[in-house]
This record gives sequence, structure tokens and C-alpha cells, in this order.
Amino acid sequence: MMKSTPHYRGRFAPSPTGPLHFGSLVAAVGSYLEARSRKGEWLLRMEDIDPPREVAGAADSILHGLEHLGMYWDDAVLYQSHRYGAYDQALAKLEQAGHTYLCSCSRAEIFKYAVMTDDGPIYSGACRGGVNKQQASYAIRVRVNDGYIGFEDHVQGRIGQHLEQEVGDFVLRRADGLPAYQLAVVVDDAMQGITHVVRGCDLLNASLRQVYLQSLLGLAHPRYLHLPVVVNDKGEKLSKQTFAAPLDQNRPVAELCKALIFLGQDPPVSLSEASVDEFWVWAIAHWQLSRVPRQRQIAYSGL
Ligand code: GLU
Repeated sequence: MMKSTPHYRGRFAPSPTGPLHFGSLVAAVGSYLEARSRKGEWLLRMEDIDPPREVAGAADSILHGLEHLGMYWDDAVLYQSHRYGAYDQALAKLEQAGHTYLCSCSRAEIFKYAVMTDDGPIYSGACRGGVNKQQASYAIRVRVNDGYIGFEDHVQGRIGQHLEQEVGDFVLRRADGLPAYQLAVVVDDAMQGITHVVRGCDLLNASLRQVYLQSLLGLAHPRYLHLPVVVNDKGEKLSKQTFAAPLDQNRPVAELCKALIFLGQDPPVSLSEASVDEFWVWAIAHWQLSRVPRQRQIAYSGL
């Protein structure tokens, strides 16, 4: 059931691909402080619908990691793996309205004909007129148009794209049957009544696809705020693939202070000696969104 809309409901939506690291901590801390400093709610959603990328035990490790850092969420954790029916329903609605089509293209075929962008290949639309070969299973794509999609990001300013030229028709259900992130995130942000999405800039352009899907599905648009992402000295986002170190469990406040400083805040040196609860009292009272750097990524070596 759709919840009534509160004045502020934020969320943190990790994928269980490994334990929390400094990059995911920054997204968690930024979304938590925005929510709590505005007396809002902060929900937790486990985005566990990509089993090939998941690591056993990672979901629990993230939840324990957050508790250890003194970050408490409202409501029960929502597991996307329990929500396949809702994604199927949304997809059926888009199918019935004629917004989707089957796609038989393999990765190799997509890359062969696509123009590459930082966000991946722009799909050529090869299957728009019908699949070009019979196979056991197909991906499902949503048709985009040449209209302009844009929004005002609270940190990054005006963001916009012509999806047809810059992204292409994108996948809603993968050929292996799994729902794509873009579909699941839109369905769940709406079901959870999320009013404000705060996350890293790696998803800045993905937000435009999400706004497009919200419009097709008749869902409300949340407000968006994208924080700078932490990159290593090679410019790579910290992640399991780039061997980001897990957080130091023995020094939770030191890790939190580093995240606060990364987000442009100015904690007193003495805060690193505080308890976790004292840390949050200070951080919530002094959080200033205007201090968050208006940058998409920041190299950080103090790890
Ligand atoms: N699960 C995504 C990730 O960990 C984040 C999704 C989101 O915040 O919308 O990168």
C-alpha cells in the first residue's frame, strides 16, 4: 500500500556486493544527515536483485556496520528480492501501454553498433522493429523519445539529457529474467513514499532515466541530491572491483569524521574523541548542505 507522503522521507539503498567502505559510507552519511537534520525519516532498502554480483553475508554485514556507526533506520528493511511481483506489475503496465519491446541483442552486438559514453553504450534501437533472431529468452527495453528530461539537483544544479540521443532505449528486464535496477528503484522509491533521493553522482544520469520511467508509470518525482563520489588516485570509484578497504570497525567515529570532512563539513578536532552518539548530535546540529562540494567526484587518498 502506498504510504501517505511525509514532509521528508529519505533512504539508503546499498547493493550487498561487499561490506561498507568509505565510498558507501559517504552516501550513507550524506543521506542520513539530510534526513535527520530536516527531522525526516530515513529508510533502508537492500538492493539484492542481482545475485551474480552479490556476496554471501554482505547484506547483514552492511546492516551491522550501520548499527555500529550509530545509524538507525525507520521501518523494516525492504529487501528487493521480496518484490519481484511489484516489478512484474510495473513492467506489465508499461508493456500494455506499448512502451516496451523485446530485445535479442547480445552484449557483443550492442557494443558493435553503439556509440560509447561514460555511462555505457547508446543502444542503437536494433530490435525496435522486432527481434532479429529467435532465442529462449529476451531482454525487455523501454522506448525513449527525443524529448528533454531534466531536474534541478540540490547540489549539482541543473541536470538534463535527451534520452534518445544520449542514452537510447534501456533495459527494464534482463535476458536472464532479472529486473533491471532502473525499474526496481523507481517502483520502490514510489512504494516507500521516498520524497528525497540522496546518493552518489555515479547515479546522476541514471536519475534522468528514473524520472522518465516515473512519468510513464504516473508516479511522483522525488527531489534529487547527488553527492560527490569518492575516487582513488586513478579516478576509479571506490568499490569492491577497485578493492576498496572495509571500514575500520575499531574506529567508527574516526571513519564518520572522515566522511563528514569529505562532505565539506568542518567538525572540531575534538569530535574524533567523541562517542558515536555524541558524534551524531554534533553532526546533525551542524550539517550544512551548502558546504558540500559541487563536484561529481573527489579523489581521496586518506583511507
Ligand atoms: N544500490 C545502488 C548502489 O549501491 C544505489 C541505488 C540508489 O541509491 O538508488 O549503487
